[in-house]
Amino acid sequence: MTAYPMDLGLFVDGEWLGAAGRDTVPVLDPATGETLGDLPLATRADLDRALAAADRGFREWRATAPEARAAVLSRAAALIRERIDALAAIATTEQGKIIAEAKGEAMAAAAMLDFQAGEAMRIYGRVLQRAPGTRSLVLHQPIGPVAAFCAWNFPILNVVRKLSPALAAGCSIILKPSEETPGSAVAILRILAEAGLPGNVAQIVFGVPDEVSRHLLASPVTRKLSFTGSVPVGKHLARLAADTMMRTTMELGGHGPVLVFDDCDLDRTLDMLVTHKFRNAGQVCVAPTRFYVQEAIYSRFTEGFAERTRRLRLGSGFGADVQMGPLANPRRSAAIAELVEDARAAGGRVLAGGDRSAGDGFFFAPTLIADVPSSARAMNEEPFGPLALTQSFATVEDAIANANRLPFGLAAYCFTENARRQNLLADAIEAGMVAFNGTRLTWPDAPFGGMKDSGFGSEDGPEGVAAHLVTKSVHIS
Ligand code: NAD
Repeated sequence: MTAYPMDLGLFVDGEWLGAAGRDTVPVLDPATGETLGDLPLATRADLDRALAAADRGFREWRATAPEARAAVLSRAAALIRERIDALAAIATTEQGKIIAEAKGEAMAAAAMLDFQAGEAMRIYGRVLQRAPGTRSLVLHQPIGPVAAFCAWNFPILNVVRKLSPALAAGCSIILKPSEETPGSAVAILRILAEAGLPGNVAQIVFGVPDEVSRHLLASPVTRKLSFTGSVPVGKHLARLAADTMMRTTMELGGHGPVLVFDDCDLDRTLDMLVTHKFRNAGQVCVAPTRFYVQEAIYSRFTEGFAERTRRLRLGSGFGADVQMGPLANPRRSAAIAELVEDARAAGGRVLAGGDRSAGDGFFFAPTLIADVPSSARAMNEEPFGPLALTQSFATVEDAIANANRLPFGLAAYCFTENARRQNLLADAIEAGMVAFNGTRLTWPDAPFGGMKDSGFGSEDGPEGVAAHLVTKSVHIS
């Protein structure tokens, strides 16, 4: 199978809006560089219409019984499962990831909708008993219309991660997905409409990102900002949100440290880490990036990692045996090329990959660079691509200092069979999520989020809905 036809538009106040009378930007196929379609961009009038609709939609949706809200989310989950082949094909076409990963992403999105449907029914308050006949109540109410912005790396899941907790809580939402991967978002919105969601409750707009976010965040209608993307853009949006004292959930970048101790099961660890590193061509906020390996196993680790990396098959995400697709856009392949050159010049040894692959698409070979000094750019900037970097360490204290040395604090991974050490690391590592002897960090019922520059607030889990609620005390005398 090759490129899937793109269905592109804005969804505002229950109406699909096309390119007539609007500027457009081309959507590219990362595997070929060819144009897939032209995406209409919202005008100022479109944004104002979306804000007015979100205001009305919020009042209607918050008054909708939690069971009815839950039923819409569950129906949408079922429709995603029914249409998984088409949805995955859209994501692979516009983003480049391999089709098996795109299907996994759609399944995760369905699981998230189902979980948040349940959470819609579990928004509890408290009753504080006072003197007979009097009491205080603690109520949790939906915060209001949400302005949400998300990146292109998980075109299905990022969108559902923004929509599902907001809708479960009773909020309306205006979402600006990435202009580079709009087709998946359009498909999800069509599914939600079919599942019975009123057209003014969830809307999608595309546009010039800075203009759209400034307009939506300056409006008195929006009461919450939810963003997934880079640290600099996240800080910029958080500053804008401060002007209206808006609540924020910020899911920003990371620079995942991996601590590999000499008591781990090395072959199993390598198998897991190579697969996890190059998932989605490394364009994952929780991707493992800095591999710190204990001295006694360092050379065996780098050799085993390099050998597995060289065996990975690169190609179109639709290719039958392909294990890694292209990068999502030309910015990423250019950025990785620069980081590799800088690491090489700093003394890093390129043991696998190291260059852009031939062809018209945005390919970059899966790359391993050993002995990269901490001063190299790649050891400090989030590569967001297929780049693994290794250094050796001696003691657990060194490993912890390495893990915590950057301003990022999203995901960290530790491989050791020693239970005392696991406890020490679980306490000491400055990251919102830590995995031991495994790589999975995402479950619908577990909070997902970072600390330090990686952001604040959690998505997923009950925390995802709580982030869309305000607390009110009521005292009845
Ligand atoms: P970018 O920061 O320019 O854009 C990231 C996303 O934010 C895009 O979808 C974009 O449309 C949106 N965006 C940008 N400026 C915005 C604004 N002013 N208002 C609202 N939305 C805005 O970076 P990029 O080149 O697309 O991606 C590269 C970097 O993004 C990576 O280095 C990585 O740090 C980060 N990133 C992080 C995640 C994540 O899951 N945390 C996902 C994708 C990208």
